[in-house]
Amino acid sequence: MLPQTDGDGGVEWKPVGKFKRTTIDVATIKKRFEGFGIDVDWPAIEQMQECRNHLEHLHPANTLGEVAGFVADLFPVLREFIQTQLNEQPAELLATAWPVMLAHHEFFTNTMSTCAAAWDNVGVSELMRPWLDKCQCVECGSPLLRPSQDDIEDGASLESQDESFKYVCIACGHSDLIAPLMIKTLNDAYDYDPRDGGEPGVEECNACDRSTFLIHEQRCLWCGAQLDYQECSVCEEALGQGDQYNGGLCSYHLHVFDKAMRDD
Ligand SMILES: [Zn+2]
Ligand SMILES: [Zn+2]
Ligand SMILES: [Zn+2]
Repeated sequence: MLPQTDGDGGVEWKPVGKFKRTTIDVATIKKRFEGFGIDVDWPAIEQMQECRNHLEHLHPANTLGEVAGFVADLFPVLREFIQTQLNEQPAELLATAWPVMLAHHEFFTNTMSTCAAAWDNVGVSELMRPWLDKCQCVECGSPLLRPSQDDIEDGASLESQDESFKYVCIACGHSDLIAPLMIKTLNDAYDYDPRDGGEPGVEECNACDRSTFLIHEQRCLWCGAQLDYQECSVCEEALGQGDQYNGGLCSYHLHVFDKAMRDD
């Protein structure tokens, strides 16, 4: 049985599927909320729930820096729920917890935007920017990373001086190269398992040698290189970086062409 809104401020219980659970878990709460038409940012909650489960089993899977981000993400969800669903004021309902949450959230989001702005003028390629914004400190997992002051003062460009350009983590003070982290973040997002029939999404770029060539877009996110020949001029099959020396033919039609030349 699930409670559903009758559309008139009341509740109707309707049988939906078979349920054996005796305790209410997140999945049940989710079903209840759906029944009542309550919209919640579930990805933010699930992220926190997964983290909490790991902690409960004493196998923390997230660093303190990451947890700080999850908590900050959860804050607007809670405020929204209290105000729009409970018609209460968070400051009254949460009492002393509220100012602590508010301070954490404000610190976190402000620092986040200061960090983002600091990267604006250091020559990050526009296509790599989203991957820079996803980077986390290798030491503590915090997303609060800034360009190093030395590199800023030297007027260094991240795009061309990626072998020396460093970040500094605001949360733990660790400093390291930023480019390998950006490239790793991109490659992790396109991680695949060939045993599952997966195919690579990113490969090394022929033009700049970085592992930033996005195969489905046939474009390098770092240097912007694109293919001279996008498709075979005979059969229109899509060509890749490896087919660029065939004068715009796929390997099959190159073979056919070569054979015709030899037979002549
Ligand atoms: Zn850190
Ligand atoms: Zn490239
Ligand atoms: Zn062809």
